[in-house]
Amino acid sequence: MRHIERLPEPAILKQKHDEWQDKFEQAKKQNPKARPDSTKYGNPGIRKNLEDCSYGKCFYCESKLSGASKEIDHFIEVAIDSKQAYTWTNLYLSCSNCNDKADHNTIPVNTALDPCRDSDEEIQANITFEDECICSQHGSQKGLNTIKKYHLGTELLDMKRGKWLRHIMKDIIDIQNRMITDERSLPTKDEQQRIKRYMQPDQPYSLMSKVFLEKNFDHLLEAAYENQK
Ligand SMILES: [Zn+2]
Repeated sequence: MRHIERLPEPAILKQKHDEWQDKFEQAKKQNPKARPDSTKYGNPGIRKNLEDCSYGKCFYCESKLSGASKEIDHFIEVAIDSKQAYTWTNLYLSCSNCNDKADHNTIPVNTALDPCRDSDEEIQANITFEDECICSQHGSQKGLNTIKKYHLGTELLDMKRGKWLRHIMKDIIDIQNRMITDERSLPTKDEQQRIKRYMQPDQPYSLMSKVFLEKNFDHLLEAAYENQK
Protein backbone atom coordinates (compact mmCIF):
# COMPACT_ATOMS: atom_id res chain seq x y z
CA MET A 1 0.00 0.00 0.00
CA ARG A 2 1.13 3.52 -0.83
CA HIS A 3 -0.52 6.87 -0.29
CA ILE A 4 -2.91 7.72 -3.15
CA GLU A 5 -3.31 11.34 -4.23
CA ARG A 6 -6.90 11.51 -5.42
CA LEU A 7 -7.57 13.43 -8.65
CA PRO A 8 -10.53 15.83 -8.98
CA GLU A 9 -13.98 14.29 -9.33
CA PRO A 10 -14.67 13.08 -12.91
CA ALA A 11 -17.10 15.24 -14.88
CA ILE A 12 -19.60 12.42 -15.43
CA LEU A 13 -19.92 11.86 -11.69
CA LYS A 14 -20.36 15.59 -11.02
CA GLN A 15 -23.16 15.69 -13.58
CA LYS A 16 -24.90 12.45 -12.72
CA HIS A 17 -24.32 11.96 -8.99
CA ASP A 18 -27.68 13.25 -7.73
CA GLU A 19 -29.70 11.51 -10.43
CA TRP A 20 -27.96 8.16 -9.84
CA GLN A 21 -28.22 8.45 -6.06
CA ASP A 22 -31.95 9.30 -6.25
CA LYS A 23 -32.60 6.28 -8.46
CA PHE A 24 -30.77 4.07 -5.99
CA GLU A 25 -32.72 5.49 -3.02
CA GLN A 26 -35.97 4.78 -4.90
CA ALA A 27 -34.87 1.21 -5.68
CA LYS A 28 -34.04 0.70 -2.02
CA LYS A 29 -37.56 1.68 -1.03
CA GLN A 30 -38.87 -1.15 -3.20
CA ASN A 31 -36.18 -3.59 -2.17
CA PRO A 32 -33.98 -2.86 0.86
CA LYS A 33 -31.33 -5.18 -0.56
CA ALA A 34 -31.01 -3.21 -3.82
CA ARG A 35 -27.42 -2.48 -4.89
CA PRO A 36 -26.11 0.62 -6.67
CA ASP A 37 -25.64 0.17 -10.41
CA SER A 38 -22.06 -0.95 -11.13
CA THR A 39 -22.35 0.16 -14.76
CA LYS A 40 -22.83 3.69 -13.38
CA TYR A 41 -20.11 3.92 -10.71
CA GLY A 42 -17.96 1.72 -12.99
CA ASN A 43 -18.40 4.13 -15.91
CA PRO A 44 -15.24 4.25 -18.11
CA GLY A 45 -14.64 7.93 -17.20
CA ILE A 46 -14.67 7.13 -13.48
CA ARG A 47 -12.59 3.99 -13.95
CA LYS A 48 -9.97 5.89 -15.98
CA ASN A 49 -9.72 8.57 -13.31
CA LEU A 50 -9.19 5.96 -10.57
CA GLU A 51 -6.51 4.24 -12.67
CA ASP A 52 -4.73 7.56 -13.09
CA CYS A 53 -4.73 8.04 -9.29
CA SER A 54 -2.92 4.74 -8.68
CA TYR A 55 -0.95 4.17 -11.92
CA GLY A 56 -3.34 1.31 -12.71
CA LYS A 57 -2.67 -0.49 -9.42
CA CYS A 58 -4.96 -1.88 -6.73
CA PHE A 59 -5.24 0.85 -4.04
CA TYR A 60 -4.63 -1.76 -1.32
CA CYS A 61 -2.07 -4.36 -2.48
CA GLU A 62 -0.30 -2.47 -5.34
CA SER A 63 -0.88 -5.26 -7.88
CA LYS A 64 -0.96 -3.91 -11.45
CA LEU A 65 -4.49 -4.41 -12.71
CA SER A 66 -5.52 -5.41 -16.17
CA GLY A 67 -8.86 -6.04 -17.89
CA ALA A 68 -11.51 -7.75 -15.81
CA SER A 69 -9.49 -7.74 -12.61
CA LYS A 70 -10.13 -4.01 -12.11
CA GLU A 71 -12.94 -3.73 -9.60
CA ILE A 72 -14.43 -0.63 -8.04
CA ASP A 73 -14.69 -0.89 -4.31
CA HIS A 74 -16.88 1.17 -1.96
CA PHE A 75 -14.44 2.07 0.82
CA ILE A 76 -17.36 2.60 3.22
CA GLU A 77 -19.62 -0.29 2.26
CA VAL A 78 -23.01 0.52 0.77
CA ALA A 79 -24.61 -1.61 3.50
CA ILE A 80 -23.11 0.78 6.09
CA ASP A 81 -23.74 4.09 4.31
CA SER A 82 -25.91 3.95 1.19
CA LYS A 83 -25.57 7.73 0.76
CA GLN A 84 -21.98 7.19 -0.40
CA ALA A 85 -22.86 4.76 -3.21
CA TYR A 86 -21.75 7.27 -5.88
CA THR A 87 -19.49 9.53 -3.83
CA TRP A 88 -16.17 10.09 -5.62
CA THR A 89 -14.05 9.94 -2.46
CA ASN A 90 -15.66 6.63 -1.51
CA LEU A 91 -14.73 4.85 -4.77
CA TYR A 92 -11.44 2.93 -4.70
CA LEU A 93 -9.78 0.81 -7.40
CA SER A 94 -9.21 -2.74 -6.23
CA CYS A 95 -8.24 -6.23 -7.33
CA SER A 96 -10.71 -9.05 -6.64
CA ASN A 97 -8.55 -10.30 -3.73
CA CYS A 98 -8.75 -7.00 -1.82
CA ASN A 99 -12.34 -6.17 -2.83
CA ASP A 100 -13.38 -9.35 -1.04
CA LYS A 101 -12.51 -7.51 2.18
CA ALA A 102 -13.66 -8.23 5.72
CA ASP A 103 -16.83 -6.25 6.43
CA HIS A 104 -17.19 -3.22 8.67
CA ASN A 105 -18.61 -5.24 11.55
CA THR A 106 -15.59 -7.55 11.58
CA ILE A 107 -12.93 -4.84 11.04
CA PRO A 108 -14.16 -1.21 10.92
CA VAL A 109 -12.40 0.94 8.29
CA ASN A 110 -11.17 3.42 10.87
CA THR A 111 -9.16 0.70 12.65
CA ALA A 112 -7.19 -0.05 9.46
CA LEU A 113 -5.03 2.03 7.10
CA ASP A 114 -6.68 4.10 4.36
CA PRO A 115 -4.43 4.70 1.31
CA CYS A 116 -6.30 7.92 0.44
CA ARG A 117 -6.12 9.40 3.94
CA ASP A 118 -2.85 8.07 5.33
CA SER A 119 0.58 9.32 4.26
CA ASP A 120 3.39 7.01 3.14
CA GLU A 121 5.02 7.61 6.55
CA GLU A 122 1.87 6.53 8.39
CA ILE A 123 1.53 3.44 6.17
CA GLN A 124 5.18 2.47 6.77
CA ALA A 125 4.79 3.02 10.51
CA ASN A 126 2.17 0.26 10.51
CA ILE A 127 3.09 -2.26 7.81
CA THR A 128 6.39 -3.65 6.58
CA PHE A 129 7.78 -6.69 4.73
CA GLU A 130 10.08 -9.65 5.31
CA ASP A 131 11.08 -10.24 1.69
CA GLU A 132 7.69 -10.79 -0.03
CA CYS A 133 5.76 -11.45 3.19
CA ILE A 134 3.80 -8.53 4.60
CA CYS A 135 3.73 -8.03 8.37
CA SER A 136 2.69 -5.42 10.88
CA GLN A 137 5.40 -2.95 11.91
CA HIS A 138 6.38 -3.50 15.57
CA GLY A 139 3.19 -5.50 16.12
CA SER A 140 0.97 -2.52 15.21
CA GLN A 141 -2.71 -3.37 15.64
CA LYS A 142 -3.63 -1.06 12.77
CA GLY A 143 -1.14 -2.93 10.58
CA LEU A 144 -2.60 -6.29 11.59
CA ASN A 145 -6.13 -5.05 10.93
CA THR A 146 -5.14 -3.73 7.50
CA ILE A 147 -3.51 -7.02 6.47
CA LYS A 148 -6.51 -8.99 7.71
CA LYS A 149 -9.23 -6.71 6.34
CA TYR A 150 -7.84 -6.54 2.78
CA HIS A 151 -6.32 -10.05 2.72
CA LEU A 152 -2.85 -8.64 2.03
CA GLY A 153 -1.11 -11.78 3.27
CA THR A 154 -2.63 -14.37 0.92
CA GLU A 155 -0.50 -17.05 -0.69
CA LEU A 156 -1.39 -15.65 -4.11
CA LEU A 157 -0.05 -12.20 -3.19
CA ASP A 158 3.08 -13.76 -1.67
CA MET A 159 3.65 -15.55 -4.98
CA LYS A 160 3.15 -12.41 -7.06
CA ARG A 161 5.38 -10.31 -4.78
CA GLY A 162 8.01 -13.09 -4.68
CA LYS A 163 8.10 -13.16 -8.47
CA TRP A 164 8.58 -9.38 -8.57
CA LEU A 165 11.42 -9.59 -6.02
CA ARG A 166 13.20 -12.20 -8.16
CA HIS A 167 12.86 -9.85 -11.13
CA ILE A 168 14.48 -7.04 -9.08
CA MET A 169 17.25 -9.39 -7.88
CA LYS A 170 18.08 -10.36 -11.47
CA ASP A 171 18.56 -6.69 -12.28
CA ILE A 172 20.76 -6.13 -9.21
CA ILE A 173 22.93 -9.17 -9.96
CA ASP A 174 23.39 -7.83 -13.48
CA ILE A 175 24.53 -4.47 -12.06
CA GLN A 176 26.86 -6.17 -9.55
CA ASN A 177 28.40 -8.26 -12.34
CA ARG A 178 29.10 -5.11 -14.34
CA MET A 179 30.69 -3.53 -11.27
CA ILE A 180 32.99 -6.56 -10.91
CA THR A 181 33.90 -6.54 -14.62
CA ASP A 182 34.68 -2.80 -14.49
CA GLU A 183 36.44 -3.18 -11.12
CA ARG A 184 34.15 -0.63 -9.52
CA SER A 185 32.93 -0.60 -5.94
CA LEU A 186 30.09 1.82 -6.66
CA PRO A 187 27.22 1.77 -9.12
CA THR A 188 27.04 4.43 -11.80
CA LYS A 189 24.34 7.09 -11.53
CA ASP A 190 22.34 5.30 -14.21
CA GLU A 191 22.62 1.98 -12.41
CA GLN A 192 21.57 3.60 -9.18
CA GLN A 193 18.55 5.16 -10.88
CA ARG A 194 17.69 1.72 -12.27
CA ILE A 195 17.58 0.34 -8.72
CA LYS A 196 15.72 3.34 -7.26
CA ARG A 197 13.11 3.09 -10.00
CA TYR A 198 11.57 0.07 -8.25
CA MET A 199 10.73 2.24 -5.24
CA GLN A 200 8.65 4.74 -7.22
CA PRO A 201 4.88 4.67 -6.58
CA ASP A 202 4.03 3.84 -10.20
CA GLN A 203 5.82 0.49 -9.85
CA PRO A 204 4.07 -2.68 -8.61
CA TYR A 205 4.62 -3.55 -4.92
CA SER A 206 6.75 -0.41 -4.49
CA LEU A 207 6.57 -0.37 -0.69
CA MET A 208 7.84 -3.96 -0.54
CA SER A 209 10.64 -3.07 -2.96
CA LYS A 210 11.57 -0.01 -0.90
CA VAL A 211 11.80 -2.04 2.31
CA PHE A 212 13.75 -4.83 0.56
CA LEU A 213 16.23 -2.52 -1.18
CA GLU A 214 16.88 -0.31 1.85
CA LYS A 215 17.43 -3.36 4.03
CA ASN A 216 19.68 -5.34 1.68
CA PHE A 217 21.24 -2.91 -0.78
CA ASP A 218 21.61 0.32 1.12
CA HIS A 219 25.26 0.52 -0.04
CA LEU A 220 24.10 0.66 -3.68
CA LEU A 221 21.47 3.31 -2.98
CA GLU A 222 23.62 5.73 -1.04
CA ALA A 223 26.62 6.44 -3.22
CA ALA A 224 27.15 6.49 -6.96
CA TYR A 225 29.87 7.59 -9.35
CA GLU A 226 29.20 11.03 -10.78
CA ASN A 227 29.04 11.51 -14.54
CA GLN A 228 29.99 8.02 -15.59
CA LYS A 229 30.27 7.51 -19.33
ZN1 LIG B 1 -5.38 -5.80 -4.26
